[in-house]
Amino acid sequence: MKRIAKLQELLAGEGVSACLLSLGADLPYFTGYHAMPLERLTMAVVPAEGEAVLVVPELEAPRVVPRPDEFRIRPWGETEDPVEVVVDHLPERDGRVAVGDQTWAVFVLRLQAVLAQARFESATPLTRLLRMRKDDAEVKALRAAGESADRVAVRLRDIEWAGRNERDVSTQIGRMLREEGHDHVEFAIVASGPNGASPHHEPTDRVIEGGDVVVCDFGGRVDDYCSDTTRCFAVGDVDHEVARAWDVLQAAQQAAFETARPGIAAQDVDRAARRVIADAGFGKHFVHRTGHGIGTETHEHPYIVEGNKEPLDEGMAFSIEPGIYVAGRFGIRLEDIVVLTADGAERLNNSPRDLAVVR
Ligand code: ZN
Ligand code: ZN
Ligand code: ZN
Repeated sequence: MKRIAKLQELLAGEGVSACLLSLGADLPYFTGYHAMPLERLTMAVVPAEGEAVLVVPELEAPRVVPRPDEFRIRPWGETEDPVEVVVDHLPERDGRVAVGDQTWAVFVLRLQAVLAQARFESATPLTRLLRMRKDDAEVKALRAAGESADRVAVRLRDIEWAGRNERDVSTQIGRMLREEGHDHVEFAIVASGPNGASPHHEPTDRVIEGGDVVVCDFGGRVDDYCSDTTRCFAVGDVDHEVARAWDVLQAAQQAAFETARPGIAAQDVDRAARRVIADAGFGKHFVHRTGHGIGTETHEHPYIVEGNKEPLDEGMAFSIEPGIYVAGRFGIRLEDIVVLTADGAERLNNSPRDLAVVR
């Protein structure tokens, strides 16, 4: 069944009158169309029943690949009011309207003013149900993205590190991702020495030196699906405490991997990793959740975090990325994307998981 038809089935089942999808990842997921984040309104109007319509600025319409059996295209001209166009396509003015999370506030406020009797809600509780469970083609795309990123992780074991700054290595990682098949590079974190203690550190001109551990967390897109992997590199040799922490981290990542399977609550995967790290005395140094879903967005549902009691299901893809961060000294993280199959989790990242010693 086509994705829009599945969404309509959910809308009808929930008694939601229509779903409005503007910027963000829902629109391309359901229509194949990537809207630019313009001030002009692009919005798919998906009613619970009947024809879906993509309201799009006239000058953008040539970029829409038509899918006449799924939705109609309604270009709007520069002197038209696109909010009125959207309202005209709603099945009723007083129903429940689900709105995509990344719709500009300016349009939501106008819609709310015009549709004073309607009840507005987030579309995500519905769209996530479809987006979280990847079909075979999506798993294949995620696997290809993972393999591409893995080739970069392997190549990083042989490059020069000492004497170069973080920004320089980050640029090289971006170049390698493209060489290995990525269409887009989203991020290439290079965090050396004490900078590693900040999980989302922006690469700086700090010069990498012997004795540093360097956290490299990078990813991008291959055919619209994201990669995201983290490996660490020890320059010259490895300090005892870091080596001990690495063993703990690897055991924690493995424990979470072995716990992840259909039917297990998302928080139990987080707990499995956290327990290993806490038991080794590093508990307060693991300052973030264990993972996040991944698909056409780098971070999406399901979130692998304490408090998320949602059972995991076949087809769900997410990261397992425990870390240990010791302020002022060092940081380490180990990240793989996994996908759940009937029997458990399969890793989509398979580059070596040791703390690589590099030059
Ligand atoms: Zn992150
Ligand atoms: Zn990452
Ligand atoms: Zn991640």
